[in-house]
Amino acid sequence: MPKVAIIGAGISGLAAAIELKRNGISPVVFEEKNKVGPAVSFANVSFKFLFRPICDQIKYLKDTYNLEIKPISDINLLKIQGPNKRFTVSSHLGYSFLRGKDAHSIESQLAAQLAYPIEYDSNVKHEDLLKEFDYLLVADGNGSWSKKLTIWQSTLRAWIRGATVLGRFNPHEIKMWLNTSYAKSGYAYLIPMGQERASLILTVPYTTHEELNQQWKSFIDTEKINPEVVELWDIEFESGLSYPHQVGNTFLVGASGGFVGSLLCSGLFPSLISGFEAARAISVGTDYSKTMEPYFTNMKRQFNLRQLWDGLDNHNLDRMVSLLNIKPVKYGLLNSNFDILKSADSLIGYFKRREKSILGQNR
Ligand SMILES: Cc1cc2nc3c(=O)[nH]c(=O)nc-3n(C[C@H](O)[C@H](O)[C@H](O)COP(=O)(O)OP(=O)(O)OC[C@H]3O[C@@H](n4cnc5c(N)ncnc54)[C@H](O)[C@@H]3O)c2cc1C
Repeated sequence: MPKVAIIGAGISGLAAAIELKRNGISPVVFEEKNKVGPAVSFANVSFKFLFRPICDQIKYLKDTYNLEIKPISDINLLKIQGPNKRFTVSSHLGYSFLRGKDAHSIESQLAAQLAYPIEYDSNVKHEDLLKEFDYLLVADGNGSWSKKLTIWQSTLRAWIRGATVLGRFNPHEIKMWLNTSYAKSGYAYLIPMGQERASLILTVPYTTHEELNQQWKSFIDTEKINPEVVELWDIEFESGLSYPHQVGNTFLVGASGGFVGSLLCSGLFPSLISGFEAARAISVGTDYSKTMEPYFTNMKRQFNLRQLWDGLDNHNLDRMVSLLNIKPVKYGLLNSNFDILKSADSLIGYFKRREKSILGQNR
């Protein structure tokens, strides 16, 4: 049996370990912390419309990888507040998941299914492990190894402030705010962790940690939110496109492999998939690049939309929010058979080509 090392017991590393174990390989899983999960608890959302043609991510994970994960809740209601315009949609839009060290967090659920020892408190280096192991899975949640081993293109850099807030919440409802005055081309979310606790998260691209305080204050003031904050945390975020995803016997998975979308920082689902697929490549000989190709394409599409979003001012944001109410757009958002990301990307491609040809004619 090959000797396999996994660097990082996060979402993708744990998924890989589960699949390797099932296929008779006992990997060594190195984790720099003393327990799985981020230090703070917070809620994530995984929207269905981002990963079409897959309709139901939980069902897909069960059917394809025999993985059972429990969300905090189904998301049935999304309210978007633009600078002036509003959009509300009520339908099954996806799931919220708990992150952190809690027993119900997604990391704890994965670790429980792995039921296998993890080498905690070990901050390991890729180059040291290469000598000792046949295969390496880099699952350390950042692009540092991709930057050294592959072609890495940064797709989003942001500072994120998260707060755990208390109140009365509908666990099925997500609120989102868009306003360049405090979020630039980012956004704020309220994702309930139950009926009495929620994560309030502000993501501001291309800002500094120093500016984040003022942006947070401006968000709270502008949207007239008066949250009872019990915990506050800041984190620097970077997503990127990485290619190739395998270099020799090293597999780059999760955020390390560039499988975090730059549109809404959505990486839970593709990170899980990349862990499973890398493990299958090692244990049953499938082609990792090939199986991850649809997700790589998805990441490129998200980046194209991200670049468009980066150029929008408040007026355009309001137009975008209004546009969501138009029947074909709403249909695309809600209809599971319609790949809205692909269609939006084709439309961007068309306008880019048209702009180029007009510029060419005017030369
Ligand atoms: C604030 C925030 C909000 C997010 N919100 C969403 C969301 O709403 N929806 C969504 O789909 N995605 C969201 N994401 C993205 C999602 O969290 C990531 O896509 C996912 O966690 C990536 O999984 P991973 O396995 O690559 O990394 P991680 O889950 O980060 O795991 C990496 C692990 O590696 C360990 N590690 C690091 N270096 C070493 C080392 N040298 N040696 C040993 N261990 C090491 C870390 O301690 C960690 O446990 C969010 C991310 C952030 C930061």
